[in-house]
Amino acid sequence: MIQQTASQPVTKTRGVERVLGGQFVMDGAGVKINRVLTQPLQRRLDPFLMLDAFGSDKAGDYIAGFPEHPHRGFETVTYMLAGRMRHRDSAGNEGLVTNGGVQWMTAGRGVIHSEMPEQDEGLMEGFQLWLNLPARDKMSAPWYRDIPTEEVPRFALASGALVQVIAGSSHGVDGAVQRAGTEPLYLDIDLPAGAVFEQPLPAGHNAFLYVFRGEVVVEGKGVPQARMAILDNAKDADGVRIKAAEPARLLLIAGRPLNEPIAQYGPFVMNTQAEVFQAVEDFRAGRFAA
Ligand code: FE
Repeated sequence: MIQQTASQPVTKTRGVERVLGGQFVMDGAGVKINRVLTQPLQRRLDPFLMLDAFGSDKAGDYIAGFPEHPHRGFETVTYMLAGRMRHRDSAGNEGLVTNGGVQWMTAGRGVIHSEMPEQDEGLMEGFQLWLNLPARDKMSAPWYRDIPTEEVPRFALASGALVQVIAGSSHGVDGAVQRAGTEPLYLDIDLPAGAVFEQPLPAGHNAFLYVFRGEVVVEGKGVPQARMAILDNAKDADGVRIKAAEPARLLLIAGRPLNEPIAQYGPFVMNTQAEVFQAVEDFRAGRFAA
């Protein structure tokens, strides 16, 4: 069911600090990915560590998938627009993420999992976001939830905007997942040409958007398809106002920065190098599977 809600006005919008195109990388066993949020942006976009966009109808670009690999110290959020991906992990969880579904995994002190396509043709399109955990939660027990598309809260506005609320809350609609420490907001916003969408945001929260269809305009600055815009943290801004220059669809992601040291080595994200070495050692010694 789609709720109809009233719009939430923003008095002064944030502007666009930078527009970025991301970086093409191969990950897993050879999956073509656009890494939208890259490692050099981790400090600026704290608490977010990575955003990967994938989208291809060529099986060769995704078929190899992501065989068994570990994670420690953060959360992964997979949002599948099209396709089928099977997840299995060492905590005994198994699930299938399909069209419009979300998988939220808190790696905590460690999981080993595989993410493998369950299709050998057709389109696979979606995103994986990495959300950091506060130091106090990095060694917490792993947690996992599959949210099928019909359970992702959504709402429509009179402008024609259609919004999926994956995390946080918007226009009075609580998203599928809430996190106290980082307060992530994760929206998928579908806008008809000319529609304006306004989202209040605390000025101290870091925020960015990624346009995956069409083009939008924020405070006079165009953000075209396949581009990310980092939003500024203007102290007097109370949110963001996004206008669709043409039919457009985008992710809007924001969160409260942790302001803690970030030490990353591949799939381990801790606060210090010593903790990263410990993670590697624990993984090698088989201490993740317990
Ligand atoms: Fe993974």
